[in-house]
Amino acid sequence: MAELDVTYRCDCRCQMCQRWQDPRKEEMTLEEYGRLAEEFQHMGVHLVSIAGGEPLMREDIFPIIKGFSRYGMAVNLCTNGLLLEKYAEQMTTSGASCITVSVDGAVARTHDKIRGAPGSYERIERGILSVLSFPASNRPMLRVRMTISGQNLGEVGPFYRRWHHVADDVLLQPVHRCPDAFYAGQDRNLFQLDPQLLTQQLTGTPFQKRNGYMHKFLLSLRQCGTFPEHRCYAGCSWCVWIPGERLPLPGAAYLYRIGKKRKFSKGMEFRGFQ
Ligand code: SF4
Repeated sequence: MAELDVTYRCDCRCQMCQRWQDPRKEEMTLEEYGRLAEEFQHMGVHLVSIAGGEPLMREDIFPIIKGFSRYGMAVNLCTNGLLLEKYAEQMTTSGASCITVSVDGAVARTHDKIRGAPGSYERIERGILSVLSFPASNRPMLRVRMTISGQNLGEVGPFYRRWHHVADDVLLQPVHRCPDAFYAGQDRNLFQLDPQLLTQQLTGTPFQKRNGYMHKFLLSLRQCGTFPEHRCYAGCSWCVWIPGERLPLPGAAYLYRIGKKRKFSKGMEFRGFQ
């Protein structure tokens, strides 16, 4: 699997994210993504997750998606949903297999505050419903994802009930806490997650499963008394090197941070450090 941040431009101002403030404006071109797709095919990549910033702010986002799907890769597009209504029809023929839309509250007031974008909840809702108005067989799967933080913890249950019969999938994801990542929030309140309240909120949802990732997250919260610290894997990939071959594999023993793609040769030379 590969994750690509195709831009840092964004029309949201989320509290838990600094990407929209990132001064780096340089973006890879469509041609470069085309070459990357070819390399990914040689590498055996089967899933590409495209995020940002807001990927739909790129004028060439649909050719980029097509560039990967034409090689048989499943493409997941992560979006804040603000442009979804505008592009709903185009999404149906884009070649994407999944759209993941971030919605960070069960009510507009909470979502709009966290996202720093007044009026965004209603726009996103319209965008989601526009995509879902196409028959499921003629469009990408639509997933709604909530980033759980101290600011929306009490709305996890209502959020799930709002969307689980509407969207194709509902995903809950605790806010990142990675000291080495610029994608993590700086506000301490975001990380105040009361395990008891979260347990209550998850009751009656599939996320209370004992072997699920949310259960493990809760265990960690209860046992450590703090938000678990994880290193950030953004921009990283697991690779295993064996004689004569280099295979990008999840869970391999060595972690390599991938440098600028432009510096890669077709021979897939990863410049590892750690
Ligand atoms: S979390 Fe996503 S939508 Fe929000 S500012 Fe960051 S890149 Fe934009």
